[in-house]
Amino acid sequence: MAEVSITVCDMCGQLGRSTARYGITQRRRTVQFDLCEQHAAPLERVLDSKRPDDGSWRRFEGMLRTFEEIEEQKHRRADES
Ligand SMILES: [Zn+2]
Repeated sequence: MAEVSITVCDMCGQLGRSTARYGITQRRRTVQFDLCEQHAAPLERVLDSKRPDDGSWRRFEGMLRTFEEIEEQKHRRADES
């Protein structure tokens, strides 16, 4: 006997909507669920903001200084005063 299984969104349970599986971990507890595009939107927004290619890593890189640069800056400040 043939068997067909359909995964539906855990929030709305509507047929005909494509779903994606998500997992949220908090401390030792992990919950997995399937969500349609509409109900996954809040999670997707969070995921998008955490992606390293959104420019945040570049901003962080710009804040890094070498020890030489820091020393040079200290000397410059000392010379000014
Ligand atoms: Zn849904």
